Amino acid sequence: MDATDTGTDLEHVLLSEEQLAERIRELAAELDRDYAGQDVLLVGVLKGAVMVMADLSRAMSIPLSMDFMAVSSYGSGTKSSGVVRILKDLDADISGRHVLIVEDIIDSGLTLSWLIANLSSRGPASVRVCALLRKPEAAKVVVDVAYVGFDIPNEFVVGYGLDYSDRYRNLKCVGTLAPHVYS
Ligand code: 5GP
Ligand code: MG
Ligand code: MG
Repeated sequence: MDATDTGTDLEHVLLSEEQLAERIRELAAELDRDYAGQDVLLVGVLKGAVMVMADLSRAMSIPLSMDFMAVSSYGSGTKSSGVVRILKDLDADISGRHVLIVEDIIDSGLTLSWLIANLSSRGPASVRVCALLRKPEAAKVVVDVAYVGFDIPNEFVVGYGLDYSDRYRNLKCVGTLAPHVYS
């Protein structure tokens, strides 16, 4: 693990910097093949997806465009409700384009299914999802995630874009927080 200050707050490293980099390279190669010759637009969902967006897009070698969306999910406590508000919409018109939503993590999948429906209504040529991480809960909703980096256990993780109280996003690995952080 890195010797960053925030790094000492981790209890357990789930995915190392090297494991993340290797999987990102594999996903990028798959995307290069699948989207060859197509006008692909990567849509990063702020803020969690910034790291995977930056690394995945640079590992890809086909021509591509990038855009970002920010959404907030209304809900009680930590569970998302599926009622979503757009905080920042796309700059681009996506009609006729191949859209690839890039997400950090799929938990309940509620935010994502709303996002897929919303983007699909704008007349794109296709909408697919690439998520770095997926939790077991995601299996309960019908969200078709075409590209998944890692299936992880049902634990709260931080790092590589993922936050706790808007911190830890800059960790190079993905891990769980030590109990002292929460108390
Ligand atoms: P859902 O799939 O439940 O609608 O919501 C997914 C969102 O919840 C993710 O984009 C992320 O912001 C947040 N989330 C879900 N699980 C975790 C986790 O383990 N760690 C962190 N930091 N955020 C999570
Ligand atoms: Mg996200
Ligand atoms: Mg968050």
